[in-house]
Amino acid sequence: MKKIWIGIAALLLVLAAGAWTWSRPAFQDWLLFKGISRQLKAVAPLAANEDGIRVILCGTSAPPPSKDRAKACTAVIAGSRIFIVDTGPGSANNLNLWRFSMNRITAILLTHFHSDHIGDLGEINMLSWAAGRSVPLPVYGPDGVQDVVAGFNQAYRDDEDYRTALHGLPTSGAALVARPFGLASDTQRKMHMADATIIDDNGLKITAFQVNHEPVYPAVGYRFDYKGRSVVISGDTIKWPNLVRHAMNADLLIHEGQSDDERRILAKALANAGDRELAKVISQISAYHATLQDAAAEANAAHVQLLVFNHIGPLPPDNALTRAVVTRGLNSVRSPDAWKLGQDGMVLDLPARTKDIKHSEIR
Ligand SMILES: [Zn+2]
Ligand SMILES: [Zn+2]
Repeated sequence: MKKIWIGIAALLLVLAAGAWTWSRPAFQDWLLFKGISRQLKAVAPLAANEDGIRVILCGTSAPPPSKDRAKACTAVIAGSRIFIVDTGPGSANNLNLWRFSMNRITAILLTHFHSDHIGDLGEINMLSWAAGRSVPLPVYGPDGVQDVVAGFNQAYRDDEDYRTALHGLPTSGAALVARPFGLASDTQRKMHMADATIIDDNGLKITAFQVNHEPVYPAVGYRFDYKGRSVVISGDTIKWPNLVRHAMNADLLIHEGQSDDERRILAKALANAGDRELAKVISQISAYHATLQDAAAEANAAHVQLLVFNHIGPLPPDNALTRAVVTRGLNSVRSPDAWKLGQDGMVLDLPARTKDIKHSEIR
């Protein structure tokens, strides 16, 4: 009996000593320093493992809110060049959390100017500048990108002055610079069938091609070709032949996907709840988005190796039920090993001179 009491007393003493240590500021500071140092040592998920293309999904949600997903954002790293395709709200936070090398971003590419694709343009530019970039960040996009860039530059002008005053950041890197590209052939452009080569040097070719997101005009997708590997990003579009043409034989197609079943159920629930305006908006969005089955049929027609969905919705597939609804019928269109639901932090590596696509996740 005496031994039990001695044991209990010893345990209470240890617990009291632990609580006392935990409450000491010096101990907390030491622990915090160790924790931060450990995080900083974590390898940034940036450089391609081998010379090739690395794709990181930095936003995969459609416009409705998600706790786990940012809006549209895809990072494409071709050798040492880094491109961010669309800068949807929440994407800057993702990149920052992952210790992405913001100062090394080569350019931003916008597919169109819906808010869920441009919301974090100012934040990504500011973080990139604050991380040491000293030259203006180019923003490629179809006609209209000049206005978007001018607006963000104006909105962030005071912020630029504050940071220059305190930190002495070089003003040369503060502003975004618009790089509008024309789309060849007026007739084709009106039919959403035009394209443009926007970069073609040092073995990297980036092609913008029109998609159909009417009444949004123009809207484009992008194809990256580098060292025999190819990645295509759809942007927002209905099922569209110009996408199939430009995705032909691509290794990887990142395509938006909207579930019509889920859209109908969501609109009905919103109407029942008395939110008739939002119910009307949700019921109208099928007019300018592709279903997941549409995208799978396009990937098949273009002989794409792997199809990965982003901009998934309208509800984010964050639980088993929404995943089951959005992927309904997909396996009857395309083999289950030839498509994946994307998620924020998904990394896809395409090493040069192989046909491999290696999949990993940022934790
Ligand atoms: Zn859109
Ligand atoms: Zn969108």
